[in-house]
Amino acid sequence: MPYLHPPERLDELLEGEPAYRVDQLRDWLYRTPVLSGQDMTNLPAAVRERLGLLWPFQVEVEQAADGGKTRKWLFRAPDGAAIESVLMGYPRRATLCISSQAGCALGCTFCATGQFGFERHLDPGEITAQVAYAQAFLRQVGMPGTPDHLTNVVFMGMGEPLANYTRVREAMRRMIEVMGLSARSITVSTVGIVPGIRRLADEPWPASLAVSLHAADDELRGSLVPINRRYPLQELEAAAAHYLEKKRRRLSIEWTMMEGVNDTVDQAGKLAAIALRLRAHVNLIALNPTPLTEQRASSESTVKGFARELRRRGVNVTIRDTRGRAIDAACGQLRLLSGKPGLTP
Ligand code: SAH
Ligand code: SF4
Repeated sequence: MPYLHPPERLDELLEGEPAYRVDQLRDWLYRTPVLSGQDMTNLPAAVRERLGLLWPFQVEVEQAADGGKTRKWLFRAPDGAAIESVLMGYPRRATLCISSQAGCALGCTFCATGQFGFERHLDPGEITAQVAYAQAFLRQVGMPGTPDHLTNVVFMGMGEPLANYTRVREAMRRMIEVMGLSARSITVSTVGIVPGIRRLADEPWPASLAVSLHAADDELRGSLVPINRRYPLQELEAAAAHYLEKKRRRLSIEWTMMEGVNDTVDQAGKLAAIALRLRAHVNLIALNPTPLTEQRASSESTVKGFARELRRRGVNVTIRDTRGRAIDAACGQLRLLSGKPGLTP
């Protein structure tokens, strides 16, 4: 499974082969990925066989929605760990949402992944392979009216990327230095692991940062996002401000709208104050209900009213579309419905 091997050490898999074979393989894996090893047309069959299985997971479920412009995969690693990715196509963009962990230990009350608990960290190769798989899909199968390559990668699938820092960092390095993605096109979404944000600020790349805020005071946030008790809002805001200062990259704030919980005028006012101080862009998305959440989604008119309230105060706001609703393409949901929990039932 060559994706589990560091791209700089592929020669170890091809001992005895000339150096140009190693370069050819690296190109197939990272520059022009293909869905099947058989598509690596300039590699002799014997070389391809030596590599074994191309992908470090099996495609257990593939689902399409939104007229073919949303595609969701549930990949299964040999040890049973579940990995989810969602590809969303637009006229000038193709955004892939990837997972950084199988499951998540942080237990946000509204999140399907959180309700499932933690299975294990994903390896840098398992993270990078999700990106390579989607690239191969766009190149070889394609999506209607969508570019034939990824333009954006967001760490908004399963898991908390900054709780798997070293492996996520290595995966980002491979995406940027080996695959050639721009750091700006990669968004790390975090629930607010303060030391992780500070470490990311010290990395050489100007990656984009999204903070999943969901509540603008500690009392409410602590009830939705348990990790807020360890890293309260003031510390989170200071770390985000530090990131902004070092990278000069516009931050985004993610806000999942829950009826009667965080969609009030009071929260809008407090959120606006934070967003203005951080000069952040706010993304609103209606809750995607999960079987275990007690919260309900805010209505469309409430979401619009909340957005108006923020704009009135001078905040930049986008109401995010709910791509893939029909196939439960939100955080951990496909796996939940597949009925197979993965490593630890
Ligand atoms: N752990 C990271 C990244 C993965 S979650 C984080 O929390 O940011 C990616 C995004 O999906 C987060 O903004 C999260 O709050 C949001 N999310 C989780 N469950 C959701 C749900 N049921 N409906 C809508 N958004 C949800
Ligand atoms: Fe983990 Fe993010 Fe889900 Fe919270 S929202 S449980 S941090 S994946």
